[in-house]
Amino acid sequence: AKPLLEVRDLVKHFPIRKGLFGKPAAKVHAVDGISLSIGAGETLGLVGESGCGKSTAGKVILRLIEPTSGSIELEGRDITQYGPGEMLAVRRQMQVVFQDPYSSLNPRMPAGEIVGEPFINYGMGGAAERQDKVAQLFRRVGLRPEQMARYPHEFSGGQRQRLGIARALALGPKLIIGDEPVSALDVSVQAQVINLLMDLQAEFGLSYLFIAHDLAVVEHISHRVAVMYLGKIVEVAPKRSLFGAPQHPYTEALLASVPLPKPGARRARQTLTGDVPSPIAPPPGCRFHTRCPYAIPRCSQEEPLLHAVADGHEVACHLR
Ligand code: SF4
Ligand code: MG
Repeated sequence: AKPLLEVRDLVKHFPIRKGLFGKPAAKVHAVDGISLSIGAGETLGLVGESGCGKSTAGKVILRLIEPTSGSIELEGRDITQYGPGEMLAVRRQMQVVFQDPYSSLNPRMPAGEIVGEPFINYGMGGAAERQDKVAQLFRRVGLRPEQMARYPHEFSGGQRQRLGIARALALGPKLIIGDEPVSALDVSVQAQVINLLMDLQAEFGLSYLFIAHDLAVVEHISHRVAVMYLGKIVEVAPKRSLFGAPQHPYTEALLASVPLPKPGARRARQTLTGDVPSPIAPPPGCRFHTRCPYAIPRCSQEEPLLHAVADGHEVACHLR
């Protein structure tokens, strides 16, 4: 079966304008040719250090910013060139939940209107019917319909994120892109919101692209995980193989920096040192070679391409 979402060779470069004549002097290689797919009912985790391009990738896939090149297919339709009218239909299927429920919810709007706004934007139902639907959404995300008249500041951080999820659910999407959706929350609240997302997935067959830097959270919610470094995907694998047998030195180092859940669990040998190079001038060859403890001369000359090392497990490293 065709995947729900298929992204091919996606590139997003941001030109930096400098100098008297406004000539683009350089560009930020935010996303530099990534390909990924997500099946129906599947969660793909997208991880990497801050600045690796994962949030930009999410925004480009949503077409909140335009790609420089590459293609985005949703249910087999190439939406890359869709105009605003066609995108309106696509947005019913593809929604987003952002990290910061403070800035993404209008502080002057009652919560019920925030959640029900998509119905108005799409001209769906009369006022009473919309009210009913919003009440249902409130209950479904663990809020009380009596809270519909309250304003965002009257909710806790976790409740605000539930509001964001309710609004994302309103139009019955197939894919929700979460850009660090639990990163701003306390750990105990994180678990509740993650469990809610997983329940909703089971109930509605939702697919998620779950963008995060917290590996423990990603391990919990994802079926497969893709690791990004400086605008590229360096490894993608089913969760078990990625966390159990990481193949890329960068993934190994990322995992080594996470506290181990169980005593006696395997600890990778290398931890991450050195600064992330600038995405304006990424290193040639393998972008990780400036920080990689295993680098050989070939690594600074030739770019390693993603290739399969096991079933569904791909890695971009010359040594694998
Ligand atoms: Fe390290 Fe070379 Fe592999 Fe890059 S290609 S991760 S530098 S060993
Ligand atoms: Mg980000």
